[in-house]
Amino acid sequence: MQLPREVIVGNDVLNRVIEVTQRLNLKGTALIISGKKSYEVAGKQVKKSLEQAKINTHKIIAKTTTTENMTIIEKQIANLKPQILFAIGGGTIIDTTKINSYKKNIPFISIPTTISHDGIASPIASIKETNRPNSIMTQAPLAIIADTNIISQAPWKSVISGCGDTIAKFTSVKDWNLAHTEKGEYYGEYAASLAQMSAKLITKNATQIQPKNTNGLHILLEALISCGVSMSIAGSSKPCSGAEHLFSHAIDIINPNHAMHGEQVGVGSILTAFLHETNWEQIRDTLKQIGAPTTAKELGVKDEEVIKALEIASTIRPERYTILHKLQPNYETCKTVAKTTKVID
Ligand SMILES: [Zn+2]
Repeated sequence: MQLPREVIVGNDVLNRVIEVTQRLNLKGTALIISGKKSYEVAGKQVKKSLEQAKINTHKIIAKTTTTENMTIIEKQIANLKPQILFAIGGGTIIDTTKINSYKKNIPFISIPTTISHDGIASPIASIKETNRPNSIMTQAPLAIIADTNIISQAPWKSVISGCGDTIAKFTSVKDWNLAHTEKGEYYGEYAASLAQMSAKLITKNATQIQPKNTNGLHILLEALISCGVSMSIAGSSKPCSGAEHLFSHAIDIINPNHAMHGEQVGVGSILTAFLHETNWEQIRDTLKQIGAPTTAKELGVKDEEVIKALEIASTIRPERYTILHKLQPNYETCKTVAKTTKVID
């Protein structure tokens, strides 16, 4: 079980990067992996601080997780032989760094600039394999420095997405438990409780999730970090990724680039909560309250696409047993589910 050693969350905590590196006894070369914008808002300051502390610091501005980009990063790592990697950016940058950190066995520090999903603290990296999304086990960050002042500058939509990804733990935990009772899979109550508690905390504090409310951001950050820790404890993404994630992956295949991961997963959670015969209304109402999409229209996809996505979702990861694998709903059933939950008209 790998857990972060330092987690620092709060306003203007970016300037504590030196304190963290000193406590972790990091003296060698540091390599910052960052996006262009993230480098401007946070990376630059980190580089300056590290250099002031006499840490030899290099940077790579990465765009995507394309093979070309990955090769550039791998070459840089081979040349510079850094002692530590800094992932400064959103999900893609953090995932890219995670993969390299794991491959080369170099620890990394996660400095998120957006909080659109639970990858900021988890040991899991998402990769796209020829039309089929997959997640791979890498390693958890050695430390997380999450500055709410920087994160609050990111588009509000990313916060909404982060909330959707957290609320979805109500159903992912149910799917994990189902796989345990029906398929005898390992189920860790502690990891499950941690993921579920994150969803409960967002539901309880939904009114605080407002632009400029740093307390709300703080709650969401802690919830997302706890989700990451729950995956570290479980040793897999199962506590945090069930049928609602498969639904989101199916939408990505059928009609990609319309909504963010957490927004799709949130709607998926309404649908699969209905199939689990649990409180889907509460999930929908919380999402509505936060301003997250709850309908196909709000996701920017057609009604038929939602139905189709729900119908094919279980085929995306046949090995991940969920309520969809159990019930195998056909197109007509999926249509009824989407209509009843008012995801479609
Ligand atoms: Zn997710």
